Amino acid sequence: MTKTLAYAAPEAGRHLGKWSFERREPGPHDVQIDIKFCGVCHSDIHQVRDEWSKGIFPMVPGHEIVGIVSKVGSAVTKFKPGDFAGVGCLVDSCRTCPSCKSGLEQFCENGNSGTYNSYEQDKITPTYGGYSKMIVVHEDFTLRVLEKNNLAAVAPLLCAGITTYSPLRHWKVGKGHKLGVVGLGGLGHMAVKLGASFGAEVTMISTSPSKEADARKLGAQYFLNSKDAEQIKGAKRHFDFIIDTVSASHDYDMYLGMVKPDGVMICVGGPPEPISVKGFSLIGGRKSLAGSLIGGIAETQEMLDYCFDHQIVSDIELIPINYINEAYERMLKGDVKYRFVIDLATLS
Ligand code: NAP
Ligand code: ZN
Ligand code: ZN
Repeated sequence: MTKTLAYAAPEAGRHLGKWSFERREPGPHDVQIDIKFCGVCHSDIHQVRDEWSKGIFPMVPGHEIVGIVSKVGSAVTKFKPGDFAGVGCLVDSCRTCPSCKSGLEQFCENGNSGTYNSYEQDKITPTYGGYSKMIVVHEDFTLRVLEKNNLAAVAPLLCAGITTYSPLRHWKVGKGHKLGVVGLGGLGHMAVKLGASFGAEVTMISTSPSKEADARKLGAQYFLNSKDAEQIKGAKRHFDFIIDTVSASHDYDMYLGMVKPDGVMICVGGPPEPISVKGFSLIGGRKSLAGSLIGGIAETQEMLDYCFDHQIVSDIELIPINYINEAYERMLKGDVKYRFVIDLATLS
């Protein structure tokens, strides 16, 4: 076992502070990674505050992990010490159910092992995430990172990147499609970059008019202020697809009104409260309201390689780890450009 320094929330809703715990020694198929950077996802806030379900505490959040391989088990073939590597939202799954067998480990029928606030496949050992100096992960759940010059900006691809890449690919969003992206935060800014890269005409739909210039720089051709009723009315039945990244309760009917007949509104945001939708928002136009959860391991690798080939990284604010509680407060106000990333060199 190796003592590992981390930042943890001691219980639900409490501030995060320094904590240490034991990581396992790498087994034959394990990769040990010295964590260099970890992105800060809004899911970290939801889970630290028990907004989704009762969490496992102390909780070390963080599932946008990049670092350098420091040790490998005797049977590891994909990695060697010194390689750059990444870990996303999953560290294991049953590997035998139909979902796992088709590369959809995020939907594992026997319960996957999330990177934190979860259990290893033994169902008793808690998992701890990337707000820590080091992690040990099975090589099958470790991702290859080719980008060497901008490692910190790669980290958010491991969740914000794959969570938007996967639905855009699943629904084959691209040339000839009008795509609306709701919410310009971590997920939203990746949806804009990826949607534009796939050839879609992207419109940013935001509650923050001050973000318009940035949205355009990220690749949006148009900008809609969702607080302006006239602008919303003008976009009636406009979009083939809307990807909704909003983290708090909001009016789904309003956004569905902007979807074309036969169009799809894809929810990736996870507001804690149940959503309410009028039946006529869907049936008046044969519209679909869909959801999507991160992506499988093979698709996460495909996304990382795509981003490397197309020189896509995240726009980040690099922070020391002792800024994390303030970073959470700023994210809750929609004040981040556009992902906080923790520099783990600041943890000692
Ligand atoms: P974030 O960086 O905090 O961005 C959320 C954005 O939503 C804000 O910047 C804001 O953008 C907008 N927003 C916030 N409150 C709003 C409201 N009441 N009405 C309308 N818009 C509002 O969060 P994130 O890290 O991108 O995560 C977004 C959500 O996705 C979270 O719920 C997270 O848990 C979830 N998530 C899901 C998955 C998945 O697999 N499905 C994966 C990761 C995260 P504007 O200022 O532009 O309005
Ligand atoms: Zn996340
Ligand atoms: Zn499974």
